[in-house]
Amino acid sequence: MTPVFRFAPSPTGRLHLGHALSAACVWRAAAEARGRVLLRIEDIDPARTKPEFVDGVFEDLAWLGFAWEEPPRRQSAHMADYRRALDALEARGLLYPCRLARSEIAAASARAEADLGRPWPRDPDGAPRLPVPGVAGGERQGPAALRLDMGAAIAAAGAEPLGWFELGEGPAGETGSVPARPQDWGDVILARKDTPTSYHLAVVVDDALQGVTHVVRGQDLFHATSIHRLLQRLLGLPAPAYRHHRLMADADGLKLAKTRGSTSIASLRAAGWTPDDVFAAIGAH
Ligand code: GLU
Repeated sequence: MTPVFRFAPSPTGRLHLGHALSAACVWRAAAEARGRVLLRIEDIDPARTKPEFVDGVFEDLAWLGFAWEEPPRRQSAHMADYRRALDALEARGLLYPCRLARSEIAAASARAEADLGRPWPRDPDGAPRLPVPGVAGGERQGPAALRLDMGAAIAAAGAEPLGWFELGEGPAGETGSVPARPQDWGDVILARKDTPTSYHLAVVVDDALQGVTHVVRGQDLFHATSIHRLLQRLLGLPAPAYRHHRLMADADGLKLAKTRGSTSIASLRAAGWTPDDVFAAIGAH
């Protein structure tokens, strides 16, 4: 069986050096395993996706010399696939509607902290973990997100140990057989108010539908793998192997992120950089 790898950028800005590092890790791992590489455009965010950013992905990857199998999968064209997965989870009573604003969750967790006299637990991304006592938010009118009832989901996943095989390493050096800790996340969103899926749901459905055997991605998504493994178990989907790679750090030692306006491949190219200059900058030579 030929191993299948994928590169899955979100077209919410131009690709930057962090993406170049990720792409270099994906294509290198695929070459070493004599695998195939698929491209997936994770364009589920209607407010932040722009057609020129999608075109930019193709342009920047081609310029760097990476080739993928045509056609790329565009998540925005596959909402019915995510709906089917939501229906399966809903039929098992594992989802509930949530209309809470982030500010209401923050206020409720602050109240809970005051009541308990200790910090309210946070998820690995630093957000207050749901459920927070006294806030359900499902009973009002208006658009609702769908959240996974994490307690019920973990019970439904059964007693067999849940984990994954890590070929790279996590932020604390985790490697090899890693136990999943979905409980650390609480009731995650599987369908957003503004779009009928979420990153976690779409990534799991697509990795399975595309036959992905090896997920190569940044360490910032290491902890999310716990959610992905839980969803795979609940939806009866196979578990790929995972290889999480180091993140690019800028001069401040902070993660390069589009939101911080870090240097795009396009602007480096316009400034006269060659692909080799990019690979040297990311330490991928
Ligand atoms: N679309 C995600 C990102 O650009 C990556 C998803 C993944 O590799 O699982 O951060």
